[in-house]
Amino acid sequence: MHKLTCLFGGTFDPIHYGHLKPLVELQQHCSCEEVRIIPAAVPPHRPAPVASTADRLAMLRLALAEYPGFTLDSCELDRDGPSYSVLTLQALRASMPDAALCLVMGSDAFAGLPTWYHWQEIPELCHIIVIERPGEAAAGAQHWAQQRLVEHVQRLRTTTAGFVLPLRLTLLDTSATDIRQRLATGQDVKGMLPESVLDYIREQGLYLSSI
Ligand code: ATP
Repeated sequence: MHKLTCLFGGTFDPIHYGHLKPLVELQQHCSCEEVRIIPAAVPPHRPAPVASTADRLAMLRLALAEYPGFTLDSCELDRDGPSYSVLTLQALRASMPDAALCLVMGSDAFAGLPTWYHWQEIPELCHIIVIERPGEAAAGAQHWAQQRLVEHVQRLRTTTAGFVLPLRLTLLDTSATDIRQRLATGQDVKGMLPESVLDYIREQGLYLSSI
């Protein structure tokens, strides 16, 4: 049986409960040893983050301090060039050859996976946990994934890579864009992100104008 490490990437501009709460549910469901949060430097498919790298990292550190088993991996920030997942996974696989690595993504991102840089290598390097999102196609609709589908999380521990596990989790209707817009227009964001992160945003004067 292999150690289970869940990998969750994003811009985290800022991190919020829409990220954290489903990940806690995932951690409990999978009894995974580690939930590794991997902030992206230059997302290949989207505009640059609003907050600086240092601020996004500081907010992540504050948030994750309250979550045992959650770790922060800044490998994509330490590397030059775009944050291609396949490069990150190659590096993680080299450093953790015996771990069952599980890339966690929403079903919307999963549907777009075949457009990612060198995507065919990804299921060779890790398992994929697909968080089913309402209105999005099921993971099994992806022809390439059909032979890889598993129903039970225990299967992921039997090998280090290659399976696709669809999961339903309780999702919140929170986005970083909404939080940034609210902050820029003086609206309340209480309960949408950890207090420690909100205090930091206020102290540093982040997201006051740019959305
Ligand atoms: P933005 O609004 O700036 O696009 P975001 O809130 O979507 O940001 P990201 O850092 O881009 O946050 O998200 C990282 C990952 O978290 C992505 O895979 C995204 O789909 C997922 N995610 C974001 N918000 C939610 C949510 N409310 N429920 C489930 N997954 C979410």
